[in-house]
Amino acid sequence: MSHLKQSFSVKFEYNVYFTSSLFDTGNTTLFSFFKARSSDALKKIYFVVDQGVADAHPELTANIKTFFAGQTEVQLIEEILIVPGGEASKNDTALFDQIVAAVDLHKIDRHSYIAAIGGGAVLDLVGYAAAVSHRGIKHIRIPTTVLSQNDSGIGVKNGINYKRKKNFLGTFAPPVAVFNDDEFLPTLSDRDYRSGISEAIKVALIKDAEFFCWLEDHAVQLAARDAESMNYLIRHCAKLHMDHIAGDDPFETGSARPLDFGHWAAHKLEQLSDFQVLHGEAVAMGIALDSVYSFLTGMLSEDKALRILNVLTDLRFNISDPIIHIKDAGSPILKGLAEFQEHLGGLLTITLLTDLGTGQEVHEMDHQLLIAASDYVAKFIKDKESLNTTH
Ligand code: NAD
Repeated sequence: MSHLKQSFSVKFEYNVYFTSSLFDTGNTTLFSFFKARSSDALKKIYFVVDQGVADAHPELTANIKTFFAGQTEVQLIEEILIVPGGEASKNDTALFDQIVAAVDLHKIDRHSYIAAIGGGAVLDLVGYAAAVSHRGIKHIRIPTTVLSQNDSGIGVKNGINYKRKKNFLGTFAPPVAVFNDDEFLPTLSDRDYRSGISEAIKVALIKDAEFFCWLEDHAVQLAARDAESMNYLIRHCAKLHMDHIAGDDPFETGSARPLDFGHWAAHKLEQLSDFQVLHGEAVAMGIALDSVYSFLTGMLSEDKALRILNVLTDLRFNISDPIIHIKDAGSPILKGLAEFQEHLGGLLTITLLTDLGTGQEVHEMDHQLLIAASDYVAKFIKDKESLNTTH
């Protein structure tokens, strides 16, 4: 028997820039990026914009056109595609087809760029279409929500839903650059603004106790949409996510997904609510459930589990939606465990907490304890509400 051995690694490198008013002609961030990648090949750039962003920032497409008219490094494709925002963009495969058709029509090659401006859902859709067209067109992300600026937009994954199953189709494909522009955030609805904070709580709980304490201390300011606090949160949270991706298993070849603390229930909950519950809102509920479960298994102290529930409710997250309530072993949310395992393959691996800032992997979840954890969260909310009415 003989064999030939093949082995190589591919280095990925990209920057996440923090800026304000990216398409202002006086802002050199984007221009410097293109200048540094200058070459003889003609490079085009095609923009896909989230409808919600286009509606809230009616001047955006005109600003993009003015910005690119003033530089020669890259040629703007005049047509700017607007796609529906939110989960609808990942559920409708016709939108994926539309982006691939645009690649064909405008002859966008692998030296060119597809840029996405929008929330995590639109970035996931466009990133996927860019990654599979011509086996990978360079992708620029311009995230416009809290969640996409601190988590989804700065990572390496993309995807769309298949038969409404979350991220069933997708690839690992790092972007060539990410531009986080804080001027997009003020137009977010309160729900969308708050929803992105849950990913910061999640990463703090598994990686950074000090950051969790900071979140506790700044919950009031964050709930009041204080821009300075939010800018700190986004930057710190993005750094934690990026360090994790670079240091561990960026393309998730193992069975563990520590960054998905609280997500097994969250993904199922989003689907069961027909996507009426937002991703970040579902993650907040998943965090509450798995934190209390960690306490009930004896891994985490009750006092710490209560601090987690309190920071979530201080941020005005609803953590006890009837859909996540686990009444018995036949509760539909429990199917989320098998689906979570199926998505990654290998052994069921769920991250729980042994402390604030420290996660630990387990390979099974006890249904009776999950029912008890769910009851505990519901009682916590009930007690808090009756306390509020008596005061
Ligand atoms: P979203 O993309 O669903 O957007 C929420 C809403 O906000 C939409 O209606 C959108 O049109 C609107 N919107 C976006 N920016 C706006 C702005 N600046 N002003 C006004 N409205 C605006 O929400 P999200 O929380 O950013 O993303 C959730 C998605 O991200 C989910 O599909 C989730 O699965 C995905 N996600 C992906 C990863 C990853 O690693 N790829 C990680 C976490 C989450």
